[in-house]
Amino acid sequence: MSAAPVDGTSAITVIGHGPAAHRLVQRLHQHGHRGPVTVFGAELHPAYNRAQLLSVLDGTLPPGALELAPLPPGVTLRTGTRITSVDPRRRLVRDAEGGEHPYDVLVLATGSRPVPPPLAGGEDRRAPDIRAPHTLLGAGPVGKEPVVVVGGGVRGTETAYALGRAGHDVTLVHPGAHPMHRLLDERAGALVAATLREAGVASETERRAVAVEPGKIVLDDGRLLAAGTLLLCTGSEPDTALARTARLAVDGGIVVDDRLRTRDPRIYALGDCVRAPGGHATLASAWDQADALARTLVGDGDGSPAPARHVVRPRLPALAVLGPPGALHTPGDDEQVVLSDPAGGRYGRLVLRDGRVRAGVLVGLDRAVATVGRMYTEDRPLPPDRLALLLGTDEEYAGSAALPETAVVCQCNNVTRRDIQQACRQGARDLPAVAAATRATTGCGSCTAIVRRICETTAAS
Ligand SMILES: Cc1cc2nc3c(=O)[nH]c(=O)nc-3n(C[C@H](O)[C@H](O)[C@H](O)COP(=O)(O)OP(=O)(O)OC[C@H]3O[C@@H](n4cnc5c(N)ncnc54)[C@H](O)[C@@H]3O)c2cc1C
Repeated sequence: MSAAPVDGTSAITVIGHGPAAHRLVQRLHQHGHRGPVTVFGAELHPAYNRAQLLSVLDGTLPPGALELAPLPPGVTLRTGTRITSVDPRRRLVRDAEGGEHPYDVLVLATGSRPVPPPLAGGEDRRAPDIRAPHTLLGAGPVGKEPVVVVGGGVRGTETAYALGRAGHDVTLVHPGAHPMHRLLDERAGALVAATLREAGVASETERRAVAVEPGKIVLDDGRLLAAGTLLLCTGSEPDTALARTARLAVDGGIVVDDRLRTRDPRIYALGDCVRAPGGHATLASAWDQADALARTLVGDGDGSPAPARHVVRPRLPALAVLGPPGALHTPGDDEQVVLSDPAGGRYGRLVLRDGRVRAGVLVGLDRAVATVGRMYTEDRPLPPDRLALLLGTDEEYAGSAALPETAVVCQCNNVTRRDIQQACRQGARDLPAVAAATRATTGCGSCTAIVRRICETTAAS
């Protein structure tokens, strides 16, 4: 394959305006790209942080938390414009109105789209209001009638929890034996199921929804559940429709090399539309890819995204999962550390290799989430007293005080512990105020607990 024909002045066209595209154009500007950049987004509104949608819907964060930083100067954004085909030979893209737009370099950031389950009767207009999590913004508030959430993966479980806490009558229908069964082992799953019950969510496990009727859904055992709204959280798949029009290789996502280049040297792809590294698409990996691709496109460095080691923090109290999906289920010969206190709602299990975390789950062990999470993402060896670490009583590592002032607490927005302390001292009294002052917590949201604790310890001192 020939070298990428790019330099700091190439005209770059980006298709899709989600968080990945948004971060890319920010980073291009920061890395000194001076050519024209045009972004086409099919949605009517500019990119927003989908990962914060539930925190806004359940009132934890204000609507402003969805906003991303303003676009840098010189970027042309065309919202409400769907690109329908790419012609790599003539080097142009076509929009739905037939308009043609030439490019030097094309970046596909078309994201993912929901995969709805087959539901008999779904076309009946008297069927429940059917939604996917992607469309929660702008779809109007969820009605007062019972809500059924179909699919108990991360998105479905946190959506059911948020709606239950907001006072809705919610049932979660899930084919696994417990919520998030691909990510969590049995004991962690049992604690999450208890958390849902406490939030007033009823669960129908080992069940599927098979059909809808006016005001109801039908389960695979024939029972009917009342449903004014049906939320389909049955997963998503990379949106590769546009890539196929350019005859790019597609295999469980757009196929790219380690520099995010497709087999056409002028076309790159990033975010949820590419085949996910480790089979797990996250906002953090989309942002890592955007940082790396910006460097490639200005010809600065080798531009390969670092191998992702991300912590999944579903929006449920004190829950963190480390490692790729399924890693907990296949510990093999690796050493394991387990702490189980079901009555206290606490459970921790770490799978270790060479004294480093390879996978793990932490429930109700809030203090350990920050410290163990950092050791995992930085691939650092654990201290000898692993149980003290899990309990948060290890003197060296306990609590946020162990973090140096320069430690980056919010990786998404590069906010240090010192920045957060300063904001608190200058009057930011709660999480929304700290978020507004520093942007901490407004990325993937996984630092929320530790930011809150830093605020508390700063206020107390
Ligand atoms: C409710 C919800 C909660 C989430 N929570 C988390 C979380 O806590 N942590 C986490 O890591 N991830 C979370 N995610 C996933 C995260 O939002 C995605 O990983 C992230 O949005 C990927 O960004 P992206 O830009 O690649 O794709 P997307 O956000 O999917 O954006 C792609 C954009 O491209 C547009 N597009 C597609 N085709 C075309 C075309 N032909 N022409 C023009 N435009 C086009 C689409 O309309 C869309 O706006 C959540 C997602 C949802 C829906």
